[in-house]
Amino acid sequence: MSTETPLPHDPIPTVRGPVAAAELGVTLAHEHLFVLSSEFQSNFPHLWDREAGVREAVRQLAQAYTAGVRTLVDMTVLGQGRDIGLVRAVAEHTPVNIVLATGVYSVDGIPLFARFRGPGAAIEADDPLIELLLRDVTTGIGDSTVRAGLVKFACERTPPDAAAHRMAAVVAEVHRQTGVPVVVHCDPFEGNGLQLVRILDKEGVAAGSVVVAHAGDSADLDGLRALADTGCVLGYDRYGMTPFAPDEQRNATLAALVRAGHSAQLLVSQDHPVHIDYLTAEQRERTYPGWSYVHLFERVLPMLLKEPGIDEEIVRTLLVDNPRRLLSRIAAPRPTTDHRTEAGHAA
Ligand SMILES: [Zn+2]
Repeated sequence: MSTETPLPHDPIPTVRGPVAAAELGVTLAHEHLFVLSSEFQSNFPHLWDREAGVREAVRQLAQAYTAGVRTLVDMTVLGQGRDIGLVRAVAEHTPVNIVLATGVYSVDGIPLFARFRGPGAAIEADDPLIELLLRDVTTGIGDSTVRAGLVKFACERTPPDAAAHRMAAVVAEVHRQTGVPVVVHCDPFEGNGLQLVRILDKEGVAAGSVVVAHAGDSADLDGLRALADTGCVLGYDRYGMTPFAPDEQRNATLAALVRAGHSAQLLVSQDHPVHIDYLTAEQRERTYPGWSYVHLFERVLPMLLKEPGIDEEIVRTLLVDNPRRLLSRIAAPRPTTDHRTEAGHAA
């Protein structure tokens, strides 16, 4: 299938309006404001106080700004309670640029909205998701003119199942028509990232425009190298989520990939939501102590900078250059060095 090279895209759409790519600054490329089960929230409004949630988000973003963050990508999509009104209420009161995504988060197949109609479904039809996700990217989300800057889907099946193939075709069409990068939430433990990159490639999305989200949770350095060798972007985007992987492990494999010449293909972030209704606040604090928008700056970077091959310039590449290139729809460049020259160094 032919692959058109997406044109560089500048300025970048943010919730408060377009921002020049050069102005994005330090960017957390995979975070969340609010992850909500919309139907539970609307039926049980006592579960959560929206106004208090907005105030808390503004407070946490102020901390991030003080730590140097200028842009945050909110990867909350359909299936995770994306709410443009809520996001705008936060954006009005924070200096941090917020970039939004479109897409579908469903780890058990196509959402019911589209499950029975579409390619391969009971009712054979055009995929209804394509038009909706395209609308987000080209017109605006909900009743706003805020356009999405990325398109995402999720697959935790190994090997990827029929739903993943259908979603890959959906996001590929959105990518082909608009150039937005594709982010795929993978299963880093079974290691389906490589298969997902290949499926997307067959659909016409070059690996350099694909982010394999959560890849950095994997302890398998050989698998991570194989993934990086495709040219895709690897998400080291769950720093602070220690039950999935300790930060020390993430740092060690990330540094090995940097030494192997893959520094332009790595994103660092925390996947941190201000509020997520899958857990109570106490359950969350117990499971992920210290997890926040500033965990990277307070705990991770000082450790990472002690790894051989990591310096301030690399950190800038990870936090400024790589997200800027991604959001500008410019594919990641190929690795800069040959692994063989690194063999003795990258263990
Ligand atoms: Zn996420």
